[in-house]
Amino acid sequence: MFEWLADRFYRWRHDRRRGRPWERGPRARGLFPAYADWGGGMAVDRAGEVWYAEEPAGWAARGVVAEPDIRFAALAVAVLRHPEIAHLAPVRTAGDPACPTCHGRGYPAQLPPKLRYWIVCQCGGLGWVPTALANRPRTDRTAGDIPPVA
Ligand SMILES: [Zn+2]
Repeated sequence: MFEWLADRFYRWRHDRRRGRPWERGPRARGLFPAYADWGGGMAVDRAGEVWYAEEPAGWAARGVVAEPDIRFAALAVAVLRHPEIAHLAPVRTAGDPACPTCHGRGYPAQLPPKLRYWIVCQCGGLGWVPTALANRPRTDRTAGDIPPVA
């Protein structure tokens, strides 16, 4: 019972649909905030371009996100948060696999409730990743090393 309550509490607490103070910068420039992490904030414009700024005051001189994994996750988070840009949602093709980190859940359930909704999954919450991203060689520990939750 406690685990269920903790899960619901942290799901509510980290609900990305709720606004955060850092989002004022991208919103003031017509962008749709996705998420922020230790490296800065990510936001998407109406054309689907993914932008970042390292600090809240940096949105005037923002940069384009080049890393395909980050672009996919940020776009996924943004389209799930903002119905205005839902038409930009990535389209899953027949060969695209389930997300190797969350195994289709959209969040890493193998983490404790306090963390599973706070951390953005590599799929951005969609539960799948494009084949091209799934097959990219990785030199670090891969998300696929994490066993699925029974
Ligand atoms: Zn995932």
